[in-house]
Amino acid sequence: MASIFGHALVGATLSKVLDKNQVKLLLVLAMISAILPDIDVLAFKLGYAYEHWLGHRGFTHSIFFAVIWSVMLSLIFGKTNKMIFFVVLFLSTISHAVLDAMTTGGLGVGFFIPFNDSRYFFPCRPIQVSPIGVSKFFSEWGVRVILSELLWVGVPCFTVLGIKAFKNKKQSKLNYN
Ligand SMILES: [Zn+2]
Repeated sequence: MASIFGHALVGATLSKVLDKNQVKLLLVLAMISAILPDIDVLAFKLGYAYEHWLGHRGFTHSIFFAVIWSVMLSLIFGKTNKMIFFVVLFLSTISHAVLDAMTTGGLGVGFFIPFNDSRYFFPCRPIQVSPIGVSKFFSEWGVRVILSELLWVGVPCFTVLGIKAFKNKKQSKLNYN
């Protein structure tokens, strides 16, 4: 994984940019969805190997899982805006796997599970892989992770959010005039 901060930031950015109505519930669900796939670290505890389809970066990191999860949440929580719930939540969930496929370590991501168990990385992998577990995170490794995520996740997200805020301001000025 990238760290939970990196993943959550991408979910928040997607919701802020795509949801015109800025629904708070959707923002929170997007952040949760972007972190959720790493729930599969529990598989280690249950005895599944990393490379097993239920192992880390397996099923919960797949496109199939992202579709099921986002359809379910949008049906439960979406009202007249089910479609935008689906789009934001699908992109947030799958953004997790996309970031993971750009990290320096671990096994690749099982994007096509359950149809194909192969694991994939992207050719470009600039993000330092985050340690699994809290104690290891507060270490020199953790610092390297945060710095690489600030650069590769933080800067793009904050740039997009900045542009969005600037545009909103301009728009509200125009409306006021
Ligand atoms: Zn992950």
